[in-house]
Amino acid sequence: MASGDEHFHRAVITRLDGLSAEDEKLLHATVEAWLDGCNIASDMAWNVCNTKSDVESLAKTTVQSETGLNSQHSILACYEASSAINSCIERKQQGKKASQPQFTTKSMVYDRRTMTVFADKGRVSLTTLGDHSRVRAALALPQNGDGYQHQYLDSDEWEYTESTLHYRDGDWHLHLGYRKPKPESKPTTQNGTVLGVDLGVNQIAVTSTARFFDGDTLAHKRREFERIRGNLQETGTQSAHRTIDELSGREDEYVKHVMHFVANGIIEEALTHDCDVIVFEELDGIREDLQQANWHAEWAFRKLREFVAYKAKAEGLYVDTVNPENTSKRCNECGHISNSNRSHGEFECERCGKQNHADYNAAKNIAELYLLRGHQPSRGRSVSQYALKSGPRTPS
Ligand SMILES: [Zn+2]
Repeated sequence: MASGDEHFHRAVITRLDGLSAEDEKLLHATVEAWLDGCNIASDMAWNVCNTKSDVESLAKTTVQSETGLNSQHSILACYEASSAINSCIERKQQGKKASQPQFTTKSMVYDRRTMTVFADKGRVSLTTLGDHSRVRAALALPQNGDGYQHQYLDSDEWEYTESTLHYRDGDWHLHLGYRKPKPESKPTTQNGTVLGVDLGVNQIAVTSTARFFDGDTLAHKRREFERIRGNLQETGTQSAHRTIDELSGREDEYVKHVMHFVANGIIEEALTHDCDVIVFEELDGIREDLQQANWHAEWAFRKLREFVAYKAKAEGLYVDTVNPENTSKRCNECGHISNSNRSHGEFECERCGKQNHADYNAAKNIAELYLLRGHQPSRGRSVSQYALKSGPRTPS
């Protein structure tokens, strides 16, 4: 992440020495599995999702079971696919061509959980395929403290971080990433940014930055639980009732799991767009939606907001609410308010003709109305703009 990174970065390139034939074989197998892992993640996520956490949720288990990579390597493979897909999206946004990422170059990523650098001994230890398997190697460094490498390896300020292992011309090389914190920057006086979030049933959540959290899978799962419960109720035996209780517990766990996933995504979206405040509607506003939902959606949304509040606190973000009046009837483009703007999940403004996804239009309004109605977080930066996919906008 270029923006928001508070570190200087350097790379130290060294060849690996002292590998046995057995070690070499293991490294080759590990890199092959890694490339397979990246390609599996890329196949699964392409045109589906792109953020690190989404790709990880989607593909990590498959990557791990199909390649034999350990858990952390599998996560890093998902991240690698995520960043390649993000580059494609950027290229497309610049009007360039971009096709699904394929991984063929013999290199792989290591981080502090999969690699240990013993700088004082000039050695490194890399985890590989297989349970608890490691390859240990010497770093082929210039003698007598010569060479730029030593100023990072021997330094107390620089710490090693994400690195890549490369196989070239019969040799293994490590591009060791090093970082040190940038001197603390002055508190920024620039005005803060608001992220609007619309909650609903078809889309569990939509952000003003156009991130959608689809409710289809949740609804489908809910119907499954409902059907099984119905069958058990007909049975009517004591053990059937016990099973119904268990089932309700499992269903609640499942709903909470989904809400955690959505909460993480909302936090990630706020951080990506450098927001200070996450704004929801007061829950009364989605009551009419909830009535058609035919399940304890209100409980689920309360959980979601709890999770967001909890995670936001850890990230130094504020969570606030806005009165829902007009958030769904107002055109975010021209501000026109009318009941007839909204029909069947689509939004079309009767004045300016602007069409939009209704929940997305509402998410933008939630953020904008929060500012227009003069809300401010009780602490932290004052806010004057809200986050859109295309960048922050100031309400006019
Ligand atoms: Zn309009």
